[in-house]
Amino acid sequence: MTEEQIKENIDRIHEELADAERKAGREAGAVKLCAVSKFHAAADVVAAIKAGQLLFGENRVQEACSKFTEIGGMPLQCVPELHIIGTLQLNKVKKAVEVASCIQSVDREELLAEMEKRCASLGKDIRVLFELHTGEESKAGYADEKALYASLENCAKGCYPHVIPSGLMTMAPFTEDESLVRKSFSTLRQLREKLSKDFPSLRLDELSMGMSGDYRIAVEEGSTMVRIGTAIFGPRTI
Ligand SMILES: *Cc1c(COP(=O)(O)O)cnc(C)c1O
Repeated sequence: MTEEQIKENIDRIHEELADAERKAGREAGAVKLCAVSKFHAAADVVAAIKAGQLLFGENRVQEACSKFTEIGGMPLQCVPELHIIGTLQLNKVKKAVEVASCIQSVDREELLAEMEKRCASLGKDIRVLFELHTGEESKAGYADEKALYASLENCAKGCYPHVIPSGLMTMAPFTEDESLVRKSFSTLRQLREKLSKDFPSLRLDELSMGMSGDYRIAVEEGSTMVRIGTAIFGPRTI
């Protein structure tokens, strides 16, 4: 993709998001765009930044660190924000909380304890989304609500003061069957409503759902953030 194409793609997605928001009766600008730059070079991220995109998602911590360190050394008007969206290994938490402002893929309690330890020594807060397993194909995410409830109870009790629970994330199943995709998204929305009642002290506002192939459905089902890679950057190149 050229710089020009990346800009066109971002502009087009903003138009489509605005259209989907309007058709779903949602407020204009209700849905944020997270540009997923995994397997794309730093130059592509810079092209997106020049097109006004400031929020990025990366799956792998190592790739994110080298890429965003490179970008940090470039003369740019503004500093991009980075979210980690891929399954996180315990030994990558230290680097992840250094480079990112939000970890969207929290899928087990031990990550919270490790984040708390690392953030406390950095003197930094980290926002987190809890990833829920709502589709058969993807193995990522909390598979059962009991484990998720246990983690949220510990957050609400104040066990992890540097970890800021901010919402939920999911990946819909990869299927042509739109009803299954929709069900995955509505499940996440309903769970958020339930959790907000059960944990009134936590602000679980974010619903990160929707990718290149299904983001219109996600907007209809209440997404507050779509994570889009290929529709912006094209097929993965590195
Ligand atoms: C790769 C990825 C995306 C973006 O997927 P596209 O289909 O390229 O838009 C979004 N979320 C997660 C968790 C991903 O791994």
